[in-house]
Amino acid sequence: MVADARTRLVALLGDPVEHSLSPRMQNAAFQAAGVDGIYVALRCNGDALPGLIRGIAHAGGAGNVTVPHKMAAAVVLDRATAAVERTGACNTFWLEDGGVCGDNTDVAGFSAAAGQLLGPLAGTRVLVLGAGGAARAVVLALLDAGAEGIWVRNRSVERAEMLREALDPRHARITLVAPDALPAEDFDLVVNATRLGLAPDDGPPIDLERLGGVGAVMDLVYAPGGTRWVRSARERGLPAADGIAMLLGQGAASFALWWGRPAPMDAMRSALMSAP
Ligand code: NAP
Repeated sequence: MVADARTRLVALLGDPVEHSLSPRMQNAAFQAAGVDGIYVALRCNGDALPGLIRGIAHAGGAGNVTVPHKMAAAVVLDRATAAVERTGACNTFWLEDGGVCGDNTDVAGFSAAAGQLLGPLAGTRVLVLGAGGAARAVVLALLDAGAEGIWVRNRSVERAEMLREALDPRHARITLVAPDALPAEDFDLVVNATRLGLAPDDGPPIDLERLGGVGAVMDLVYAPGGTRWVRSARERGLPAADGIAMLLGQGAASFALWWGRPAPMDAMRSALMSAP
């Protein structure tokens, strides 16, 4: 479909955005579903974010928000879903009844991807690395799925504390781990929800060899053939997935919100699988 004056702009707002496969995945979805939209990635800073979200939505467009702006996006909205209110993070916006609405489809995306890797999450013990917007979505999904315990380790202790206050104010199910400490527990799943792995010279988010028992590994960062951390987990014989399945799950949920119809998952999956 050739873009014309009726084409709807759907934009990914973040910094960096150059690595993102969302434009590839969503443009394939728009084409397969026959909807008149174009998906672009716009690198922007925090000052520009509120104007872009409100301007694009009020011009009939919609979008996604990515690193590092998801928490800033949550306060720009006129109406927020429960997932945004509980995580304090928004990754999807659109206009409805004259107001800018937002959801956090990372919650559903993570649930789907972790379920594929591990099966039901109820009763699991999970170590989450990171405490930003994505980590909040991961933790909310784990809490709602009935995980037995969640350990959160983040470079900034203050941010980890804010995550726990927002999602588990009674401190019943989330245990904080100091940034330089290695928890002694066994985990069913270890999740990288930091941005470590996005840059080619990043070190691993944690040394798996120095942990006790680990059942499976999931990296929210994605790369062709799996991230370096995922490949190192597989070399140790662990089931491991990078962020592609979560990207697909959150993208399908965003598509449904923007267009009011189910996403063409097969087209989205093959666009991701054929990415160079
Ligand atoms: P964010 O809100 O900016 O949070 C970034 C997180 O990374 C924070 O926990 C931060 O720790 C940590 N971090 C950054 N630099 C670090 C470093 N040098 N050493 C250790 N920790 C560091 O970003 P986000 O939205 O949560 O996204 C996090 C990652 O998840 C990104 O790579 C993003 O692409 C990925 N993601 C993937 C999907 C998917 O569908 N696959 C969905 C969502 C997010 P501090 O708090 O100490 O700064």
